[in-house]
Amino acid sequence: MAKSFTGTLFIFSAPSGAGKTSLVKALLDSTGYIGVSVSHTTRAMRPGEEDGVNYHFTDRDSFVRQVEQGRFLEHAEVFGNLYGTSADWVAQTLRGGDDVILEIDWQGA
Ligand code: 5GP
Repeated sequence: MAKSFTGTLFIFSAPSGAGKTSLVKALLDSTGYIGVSVSHTTRAMRPGEEDGVNYHFTDRDSFVRQVEQGRFLEHAEVFGNLYGTSADWVAQTLRGGDDVILEIDWQGA
């Protein structure tokens, strides 16, 4: 049976450091609710970051396991660290009628 998604998926993609986060923040400040996907990553947490808020921080073994289980809509290696977007979260949010933004690098896009 076809699954219907009533939300729209937007992708913000640019090289690291290009200002994606600032653009997304400005968009969120000026519009209604849009879900921003919290990616999974193997990179170390930076000062001020919170697990589950900025990223879901994970180790390489569990990331690779999740890749094998088909849990990511897309995934990529950026500067030696792995990043991935949860397929379930995106599908559930779109199905619930909310729009979703992915803030990801060009490989994932
Ligand atoms: P940072 O480690 O500086 O937060 O992010 C490094 C790069 O990885 C940025 O360009 C960021 O947009 C990208 N990135 C973050 N999450 C994901 C993701 O889920 N998938 C992909 N392909 N890139 C991501």
